[in-house]
Amino acid sequence: MAVQQQINKFIQGIGASPGIIIGKAYLVERFKVRLPQKQIDPKGAEKEVERFLSAIEESRDQLMEIKEKILDPQVRKHSFILDVHLMILNDEMLLQDTIDTIRKKKVNAEWALDLTLERLDTAFKAIEDEYLRERRSDLHYVCARIFRNLLGKKEDDITKIKGKVIVVAHDLSPADTLQMNLKHVAGFITDIGGKVSHTAILSRSLGIPAVVGLEVATSLINGGDLLIIDGETGEMVINPTEEVSQSFLERKRRAKYIEREILKYASLPAETRDGVRVRLQANIEMVEEIPSAKMHGAEGIGLYRTEILYLNRKDLPTEEEHFQIYRRLAENIHPATGTIRTLDIGGDKFLSGYSANNEMNPALGLRAIRFSMRETDIFKTQLRGILRASAYGKVRILFPMISGIEEIRQAKVILEEVKKGLVKARIPFDQEIKVGAMIEIPSASVTADLLAREVDFFSIGTNDLIQYVLAVDRINEHVSYLYEPLHPAVLRIIRGVVETAHQAGIPIAICGEMAAEPTYALVLLGLGLDEFSMTPASIPKMKKVFRMSRFEESRSLVKQLLQFATASEIERFVKSWMAKRFPEDFIECYPEEIKA
Ligand code: PEP
Ligand code: MG
Repeated sequence: MAVQQQINKFIQGIGASPGIIIGKAYLVERFKVRLPQKQIDPKGAEKEVERFLSAIEESRDQLMEIKEKILDPQVRKHSFILDVHLMILNDEMLLQDTIDTIRKKKVNAEWALDLTLERLDTAFKAIEDEYLRERRSDLHYVCARIFRNLLGKKEDDITKIKGKVIVVAHDLSPADTLQMNLKHVAGFITDIGGKVSHTAILSRSLGIPAVVGLEVATSLINGGDLLIIDGETGEMVINPTEEVSQSFLERKRRAKYIEREILKYASLPAETRDGVRVRLQANIEMVEEIPSAKMHGAEGIGLYRTEILYLNRKDLPTEEEHFQIYRRLAENIHPATGTIRTLDIGGDKFLSGYSANNEMNPALGLRAIRFSMRETDIFKTQLRGILRASAYGKVRILFPMISGIEEIRQAKVILEEVKKGLVKARIPFDQEIKVGAMIEIPSASVTADLLAREVDFFSIGTNDLIQYVLAVDRINEHVSYLYEPLHPAVLRIIRGVVETAHQAGIPIAICGEMAAEPTYALVLLGLGLDEFSMTPASIPKMKKVFRMSRFEESRSLVKQLLQFATASEIERFVKSWMAKRFPEDFIECYPEEIKA
């Protein structure tokens, strides 16, 4: 049923994949089936069970068919999501629970499945990790498919989208997106979902603009409405006036211009005017991001977070999987270096099936290297994969959450054991592979001189370092006002660790979010860091600032700001210093009184 036509209606959602796009809406109706609830004749229970099982069978066939029909290799990469859905279809809990409910409660299959879904959904909601919680949607996609098959409802055929459209849906299952001819899709918008929902991940990797979490989009949009979306800011306008369209297009031109201008710095070295050279590298979570890292001028991967390999699945990655992925990293980043961080699970990311999921203080619990030291088989499998890949390019190993020298020694003992196994099996690897420690726990920063004897490099993880130094949970919005990267304690610690590393003759990197903030660029340079690792898109901006500056002035800036007693004084000082020094680039940093 058509809804009243909206004119120039603005809705704010969540920007999931950047880009500004204007196009016609293509509405996809999904997940809105009304479920009949019927008590059944006790004799009919087995027939109902059969009906349920054949809906499962039909769903399985449909998913297999979708999977087989994906031809585009870019899209095929994401088809593992369909395997997850096939696994859910085989899930013992889902099947047995529903069958038991049909038999015991004598209810129809739709009702029984809905009750099972409710129970599983409650269990999922309790999970704190955003990524895993989002995987709840997979369960819903699968159940929606079973419901449709139980009810004999046909899906609207989205394989035949024509023209270039913005796909509008309450939610899109991976099966939906994978079926579409993405050449005809200019953008995606959905009522629900967050930054790590499948639609968001897929559209980012395909470079299709997307806005999610719009809540009311499908109830306000008619098929064929003209839409504008800004995948960066999360804005969306239905049937915009000419004036609004023009202002968005102007914004798009400006964004393109800035990106082009900034990208000019990507291929230039990060060198100050007085000849000090630092290295800018990329933080990545998937090897698919390597082309973007290179395009933005990364001189290697400073942090490959490997957690994604372990998430969104019931089993663990095999040695072969680790090896193949790390080998791709080593080969694709060659001749630069790829820094692989071993599993940093725990804290805010959990692995299904591990008891530590119920910890009271997960950030202080069985996290990262502590988890690896307890689950040594998981650790060794990953280390073998990394070592084997080291025969194909330059890789180095980074251990997360090191708190002291014993931990690093124990980790190295295990690494040596794994190396010996490979030597014995005559499997090649880089015998000289470099090993580093993340400095993100205060005890590690205080004992950095001892740690420096054990490792080849340091990488400061300011995201965690700030949380542990200031006792401020990095994901708790109630105390976020206390999360201050320029706190004197944080700056003194960074200064101390850098000095220690240099005295020991090892390089020191920074890989927390702080490293991607252009306003802090000279503070970090002046503190003496050698390498900066950040999200790829931030590299050109940071290079630009370094290239406009002199190392000497950054030293003097740091000397002055270390005399202030509070983070807010330091912040004000740094901002006005940057605004005066680089008026064109840091105009937004002018404190109000300077602007006036
Ligand atoms: C950090 O803590 O700064 C860091 C880079 O690691 P993560 O954000 O993955 O904990
Ligand atoms: Mg960390």
